[in-house]
Amino acid sequence: MNVLVAGGAGYIGSHAVKQLIAEGHRVVAADNLYRGHAPAVHPKATFLKIDLAETTALSEALRREKIDCVMHFAALAYVGESVAEPLRYYDNNTAGTISLLKAMRASGVRRMVFSSTAAVYGEPESTPIVETQRRQPINPYGWSKWFVEQILHDYAAAHPEFAFAALRYFNVAGAAADGSLGEDHDPETHLIPVLMQVALGRREKVTVFGADYPTPDGTCIRDYVHVEDLCNAHIAVMNALQPGDTRCYNLGIGRGYSVREILASAERVTGRAIPHEFGPRRPGDPAVLFANVEKIRNELGWSARFTEIDAIVATAWKWFEKHPEGYRP
Ligand code: UDP
Repeated sequence: MNVLVAGGAGYIGSHAVKQLIAEGHRVVAADNLYRGHAPAVHPKATFLKIDLAETTALSEALRREKIDCVMHFAALAYVGESVAEPLRYYDNNTAGTISLLKAMRASGVRRMVFSSTAAVYGEPESTPIVETQRRQPINPYGWSKWFVEQILHDYAAAHPEFAFAALRYFNVAGAAADGSLGEDHDPETHLIPVLMQVALGRREKVTVFGADYPTPDGTCIRDYVHVEDLCNAHIAVMNALQPGDTRCYNLGIGRGYSVREILASAERVTGRAIPHEFGPRRPGDPAVLFANVEKIRNELGWSARFTEIDAIVATAWKWFEKHPEGYRP
C-alpha cells in the first residue's frame, strides 16, 4: 500500500515508517520537524516537510503520491504542557487532524489509523481498562485526542466509504531492536528514558513521583508496550480496515509494572546503580493504568511480543548507549 505517515520523524512515527518499509509498503513520511528528527526518517521513505495546517499542500501530496491510507501520529504529547497551553494542543492535535481529514476528503483518501491514547479514559473506573469504559479525560491532551475520535465517528457516519481505527496507547516504550531508532525528546519526561539518562550519567538522579499510592509497593503502575509491537499493531489494523469500519482498540501488553519495578529493571539491564529519590505525586497521575487487550487479540490476532520489562528496557538501553546525544550528530 501507499501510506502517508503523519509525524513520520517522531518517536513512534519513525518506527512505523521503518516497519512499513520492511513489509514492502511505499511510505511518505510527513512531519513539520517541530519535535521530530529528520535523521530518524528511513532513507527509503519520501520525506515531506509539512504542517498539518497546510490543507491544500497536504491534499496535493496525498493525490500525487496516490496514498491509500494515512497513519496519523503527528501530535503534541506532553500532559503538563497541555494544561499550561491548551490552545496549542487543541490547535495542533484537534484542528490539525480536521485539516488532515479535509485534505483526505479532497484527495479521496479513505483510510486512517489514528494515534489515540489511554488518556481518553482519565481516571479509570476500574482496571484492566476495556474500550467501552467511560471516556472522561482529565487534561487537555486527553481531550484533544478524544475530540478527534468523536470527529472521526461523525465524519465516518457522513461518509460511509471512509474507515478509521483509533488506537489508544498505554505507555509506549523501548526502541528499535537493531538500535537504529529510539526516543529523543526535549525535554525528556518519560520514566524509562529518564532512567537511561541517569544510568548514562547525563542526569544526576530520578525522582519517583509518589510512593504512597494504594498499590503493592506504593508507586504507580503502568502498562508499557514496546514501540515495535505497537507499530505492528498499526499495520495489522491498516490491513484489516474495510470501508465503513469505525474501530477502536487499546494497545498495551495487558499487565502493569510499578515505577519501582521499572527502576529495578533499569538497574539490572544497565548493570548500574541508578540514584533516585522519592518525591511528591505528579498531579494528574492515576495510581493504576493497564489495558484489557482482548479486543484486538480476538478481532485481529495481535498481541505484544515484548511482555517482559527487562527485554523492553534493554532495547531502550541499546539506543541510549549508542546514541547518548539522540539524533544530534
Ligand atoms: N515517573 C516518575 N518519575 C519520572 C517520570 C515518571 O516517577 O521522572 C512515573 C510517573 O509518575 C508515572 C510513570 O512513571 O507513574 C510513567 O510516567 P511517564 O511520564 O513515563 O508516562 P505517563 O504515564 O505519564 O504517560
